[in-house]
Amino acid sequence: MTKNTAKYIIVGAGLSGLTTAYILYKLGETDILILESRDRIGGRILTENGIDFGATWFQDHHQNVNSLLDDLEIGKFYQYSKGKSVLVYNTMAPAHYFENDPNSPSAFRIAGGSKAMIDSLASIQNDIIKTATTVLEIKEAADNTLTVVTDNGNYEAEKVIITIPPRIATRVSFSPELPKSLSKVMEKTHTWMSNAIKVGITFKTPFWRDQNFSGTLIGQVGAVTELYDHSDAEEKTYSLMGFVNEGLRDVSKKERKTRILDHLQKYLGDEVLNYISYQEKDWSKDRNTSCDSIKSIYMSPRYGDSKFESFYLNGKLLFSGAETSPFYGGYMDGAIYSGIRAAQKVISK
Ligand SMILES: Cc1cc2nc3c(=O)[nH]c(=O)nc-3n(C[C@H](O)[C@H](O)[C@H](O)COP(=O)(O)OP(=O)(O)OC[C@H]3O[C@@H](n4cnc5c(N)ncnc54)[C@H](O)[C@@H]3O)c2cc1C
Repeated sequence: MTKNTAKYIIVGAGLSGLTTAYILYKLGETDILILESRDRIGGRILTENGIDFGATWFQDHHQNVNSLLDDLEIGKFYQYSKGKSVLVYNTMAPAHYFENDPNSPSAFRIAGGSKAMIDSLASIQNDIIKTATTVLEIKEAADNTLTVVTDNGNYEAEKVIITIPPRIATRVSFSPELPKSLSKVMEKTHTWMSNAIKVGITFKTPFWRDQNFSGTLIGQVGAVTELYDHSDAEEKTYSLMGFVNEGLRDVSKKERKTRILDHLQKYLGDEVLNYISYQEKDWSKDRNTSCDSIKSIYMSPRYGDSKFESFYLNGKLLFSGAETSPFYGGYMDGAIYSGIRAAQKVISK
């Protein structure tokens, strides 16, 4: 791909940006460029060796996810939850068990991993995505277009849709400057899940299922705060995946792994040690998702500030992305909602 100008430039090839391009295509607009800082697409959706290290679950009421999956002909399946689940509320007390209520709806997962959705969106528009291209500056040009300055060349567009999480987008320079009230909102908008550490462990057999364990383990006091069965939809690979206690963020990788495996061995048995692969992902160490300081996190953020609904830079710049959505902000559903909204807005402007 060599072109440096497009009618629309989308900054960020996460779920929101790819959805916007997908909808624009459907509406007949094909003069699009997507600029992505990472050397991969997907943003906070990352599936490696069958493990969803980013977004994983959705439910019936997440209508945008459900519709997009239908549209892309991608299947969904229930999170496995049969059998005994473990509740750890005190590491010195014996394990407590609970059974999931078979009548309460379980969350869904995406067949093929969450990245199936990303790969499908991108397959329609692969030649317009430029990875390893970090946007540094967006400025108005004399001919009423915008110049997008990156570490990999300059680009021109009539309209730019920026899907970088708002707080990360404060690293970009804008000329003319954005209103102070907007910059303040951007700075305050916590990037959902940017502090999470996930672990994924794959096994030859689902030994926990054989012992009537669901694979679910919940509790704030141990090395793993939440764990779930993460076997694939076809039940060909068997994994456990969950969230690591953030108290282990700064210990060595070796110590963290030992403490995680010790914890799981205690509650699920010695077979935990016979794993095929063990992987971790600390999103706080990932510059394209996380901000420099995570010392304090406002855990119930309100997303979708109305300031994200307006155009900036004289009607040529629009903000989008999960954190700009008033509905299910921070989640995949919000990312898709904002992506659809952005496409409709730039077309009708
Ligand atoms: C650990 C974890 C677990 C999660 N679990 C769930 C879940 O179970 N269910 C759910 O619904 N949601 C979940 N989420 C949230 C979900 O992943 C997000 O809502 C969604 O993926 C956000 O998509 P987005 O496109 O808005 O943003 P992003 O995916 O963050 O995309 C933004 C893109 O912009 C790029 N970028 C950043 N800076 C620049 C720059 N200067 N120039 C160019 N590109 C740039 C980034 O690399 C990225 O690709 C989870 C997230 C994480 C991290």
